[in-house]
Amino acid sequence: MKKKRAQNAAPRCPYCGSHSVLRSADGIYRCNDKNTMLYVCSRYPACDSYVRVHPGTKIPVGTMANRELRALRNEAHRNFDRLHKQGLMSKEDAYCWLASILAAPLGQAHIGYLGEYYCKQVIEESKKVLDLQKNKRRGMTA
Ligand SMILES: [Zn+2]
Repeated sequence: MKKKRAQNAAPRCPYCGSHSVLRSADGIYRCNDKNTMLYVCSRYPACDSYVRVHPGTKIPVGTMANRELRALRNEAHRNFDRLHKQGLMSKEDAYCWLASILAAPLGQAHIGYLGEYYCKQVIEESKKVLDLQKNKRRGMTA
């Protein structure tokens, strides 16, 4: 039987093309209480690119990202989360909405896979939905 190659395929750094190394987030995360493991670019810290793995696996959560893209993804996630945390839509509906923004199948609608362009789209579109809701509320109380 062939072994599944995807299981131990470390991603390549999309920035410099180097191999990545699976290692603890110690020394990269300010606090690593959860013992998170990362695929880190072998040129780290010269190349500041990494992705964490699903706990207990070697499966990366999305694609490797540098500092700039990590910040953008965090911002996109924060804005997106507000849609369902503020009750504007269910979490399920929010992911359907995300899929439509990305023009991607639902199974691929994850912020961890997004590049700069789509992060900005998600931030912008989330804000639109949130503003619309704000105006509606204002209209009701006026
Ligand atoms: Zn790199």
